[in-house]
Formats: sequence, C-alpha cells, structure tokens
Amino acid sequence: RVTRLAPSPTGALHLGNARTFLVNWALARGRNWRIVLRIEDLDTPRNKPGATEQALRDLEWLGIDWDEGPFIQSGDLAHHRAAMVSLAGRGLAYPCELTRAQIEAAASAPQDDPAGGGHELRFPPELRPPIAPRPFDQPSTGWRFVTPDRAVEFDDDFAGAQRYRPMDTIGDFIVWTVRGQPAYQLAVVVDDARQGVTDIVRGDDLLESAARQLLLYEALSLGPLPRYCHLPLVRGADGRRLAKRHGDTRLSRYRELGVAPERMIGLMACWCGILGDRAPLSSEEFRGRLDLATMPRSPITFAPEDDAWLLNQS
Ligand code: GLU
Repeated sequence: RVTRLAPSPTGALHLGNARTFLVNWALARGRNWRIVLRIEDLDTPRNKPGATEQALRDLEWLGIDWDEGPFIQSGDLAHHRAAMVSLAGRGLAYPCELTRAQIEAAASAPQDDPAGGGHELRFPPELRPPIAPRPFDQPSTGWRFVTPDRAVEFDDDFAGAQRYRPMDTIGDFIVWTVRGQPAYQLAVVVDDARQGVTDIVRGDDLLESAARQLLLYEALSLGPLPRYCHLPLVRGADGRRLAKRHGDTRLSRYRELGVAPERMIGLMACWCGILGDRAPLSSEEFRGRLDLATMPRSPITFAPEDDAWLLNQS
C-alpha cells in the first residue's frame, strides 16, 4: 500500500499542516505503507518562491521521512493530457469559455453555503452543451467534466459513511484550466493513480472533493479506488480554519526560533488524543501511540496558550 504527502507551495506549512502530515506519516510507518512526496504546484499564480524548499525542511524537522520523490506535479503533464484526450473523446468533457459572471447570471438562485467557507459556484446543467465526442484540441480553454447525475458513496476511515451528489453542489466542474494545466481534481486523480496511491489521508475540507475524484476514477477506468481518511481541521478560537488572522503559526517560524521538534510533536499528540496534557514527545513515540479510534472527532482548536507553550513561555 502507498500513501502520499502532497503539500502545495502556495504558502508556508502551519500547525494545521503539521497535524495532518504527522498523522499521515505515523499511520504509514505503523502500517508499512510506502510514502510518496508530491509537490502540488499547479495553482501557479498562488505559488510562493522558496515554499517547496521550506516545506521539505519543515517535514525533516518534524522527523517525517518519505520513500519516493519529491515529485513536482507540473514536471510531467503527459498523463493528464492523455486523460483529457480520453474524457473528451468519449463526450465526458467539453470546452467552456463562460466567465464566472456569466455562470452566476445563469444560475437561478444563489447556492446556500452551509459550511460558510468555500465560494464555489454550481455550474447550472442548462449551460452544458450537447454531449458529443470531441478532440482535446483547445488546451488553453477551460474544460468541464460531464458530472453524472447520481450520488457517490464511500466509507471514510475516519469520517465514516459519506454520500454526496456532486451534480447538485458543483455540477460540471473544471478539469482543465485556462492556463493550459490540469485542474486540482483531475491532477490529483491522475497522479494518485499513476503513483500507485492506495491510501489518502488529508483534511476534511476535501471530503466533498473525494466524491468528485471518485467520479473521475470511474470515468477514466482508473483503479483500484483509494481508501480515504479525512481528518478534522485545526481551527482558531473563532471556529474558522487556521490562517494568518490567528497569528503566525508557520512551522518555519518555530523552527527558526529554536523550538525543539519534540515540543511541536507533543502539541500534536495532545491534539490527536495521545497525550492528555502538552508534553514533549519524539516522532517515534507519536507514531507508536497514534490510534485513530481514540483521536478526537471534533475540530481542533488552536489557542494562544499553545503558541506560548511551544515557545516555552508557559
Ligand atoms: N495539495 C493539497 C493541499 O495542500 C492536498 C490535496 C490532496 O490531498 O488531495 O491542500
């Protein structure tokens, strides 16, 4: 079995990333999965110079190692193009030059956003052109996937039974961007499949994406389907996902201030239900003691006292 660590170089890794990567690594090492490191650099306008090198240093500092890579996602897009040729050739993808404003104008009612987070726009089914096989001959236009009108069900190793209807929430989603690159959903599926990934561990902000990804596995006849393990995100005291507004929680900041990695891992152990109180812990101990069955199911809250404890000020 194979898992992957897939940081995006769109910013520095923070405490929330540390928690996900440590759990992913500990599960992998505890269960003899191979670990592939993949740098997901396709969100080109948001890439930050130096972020990849910094992420590698952060992972090493935490005692996280890997068996293959780092693979740079943008380095080889031939498989993604082949996937597009296949989808388009079977009428499962079509070019779409509509702007966000045009799609918004066509959408009959604004979508409810119960999660309050994303601002995803549902693509109304009326805008789908007649289904027909096409050559993939417009690689600098956005392309959408013909989302099947059915529910997707899967059993998540942490989040439990899941059921989504991507047709109702996102509709035909983008699989190829106007920048001439695979969009996130397609990139992840093609890369996970060709890198032999069988076990995906990541934040539960991507739970619904898993349903879209499973539709792509099916449309592209890729398999076997991966097992998923989606973990609750780390949030600030205001309930929002950890971000700059909650202070500087970049791993590189703690590393550069000389914080011992055992302190960072100890805080993660506390968040993961391994320790009742914050105390320094090695990555090996974290690995040996991690148990999904006793890991808290609710979101994890980062408090200013956590920062003070890391800096040894409390
Ligand atoms: N690169 C993505 C991120 O940093 C992770 C994507 C995935 O795990 O599928 O959020």
